[in-house]
Amino acid sequence: MSRHVIVTGASRGIGAAIAEFFIAAGDRVVALSRSGTGPEGCALVLAVDVTDSSAVNEAVKRAVGELGPVDVAVINAGVTKDGLAMRMSDEQWREVLSTDLDGAFYCARATMASMVRARQGSIIFIGSISPFIGVPGQANYAAAKAGLVGLARAIAKEVATRGVTVNVVAPGLIETEMTSELGAAKDSMAAMIPMGRIGQPADIAGVVGFLASNHARYITGAVLCADGGLSLGQ
Ligand code: NDP
Repeated sequence: MSRHVIVTGASRGIGAAIAEFFIAAGDRVVALSRSGTGPEGCALVLAVDVTDSSAVNEAVKRAVGELGPVDVAVINAGVTKDGLAMRMSDEQWREVLSTDLDGAFYCARATMASMVRARQGSIIFIGSISPFIGVPGQANYAAAKAGLVGLARAIAKEVATRGVTVNVVAPGLIETEMTSELGAAKDSMAAMIPMGRIGQPADIAGVVGFLASNHARYITGAVLCADGGLSLGQ
């Protein structure tokens, strides 16, 4: 049966690959991003800044009005603003926390109500292995992504009896616009990946597809690392 899937940050990178995965499976995908673009075949593409809770609520209301209850919410929109903590500005800290953590909460809250009413659904947050391995320059990002784990596990218990699962996928180093600016640091990180290659957005889309599927119906509150072994350490 065709599911109603909302993907945030679907204009490019990992979010676009996730949207394409569900479209290929015959699902109805709603793509959200600031630019309001999304891959071909989306049922609805909306320009929404996830840091604006009213805009998020409005977008989800419109999606539910047009496509019915939300079956899957993939909360993927995120940004980085790297810098050493000692020199990190308030703005650098706030921008990352407000997009990657506050925005994720707004999207989860807005989509959860429809799932709880329908007594089924799946919320999947896109986290990161950054908080687990400790990446210099990512205090803001690591704090936001670590926060997502607590957020997901608390919500997972709140909605477990309603048939709604809540999980986190934690990618390692993935080839997207976000990592294109890393330059030489990217090559040295790539050299530490046990599987010997940087991940592709499709590597993450497959994991999300699994967590949204019936095969994963007994998994909730889990953090699934998809990182080629990078978080195993040296
Ligand atoms: P990209 O920079 O390629 O894409 C980010 C997406 O988020 C874009 O669609 C962007 O669209 C959207 N976005 C950013 N800010 C907002 C906002 N305020 N409101 C709505 N949409 C927003 O990043 P990736 O695809 O690499 O990353 C996707 C997710 O995966 C992020 O959460 C990231 O932290 C996580 N991740 C990525 C890794 C990697 O190596 N690439 C590793 C681990 C985790 P627009 O600009 O149009 O708003």
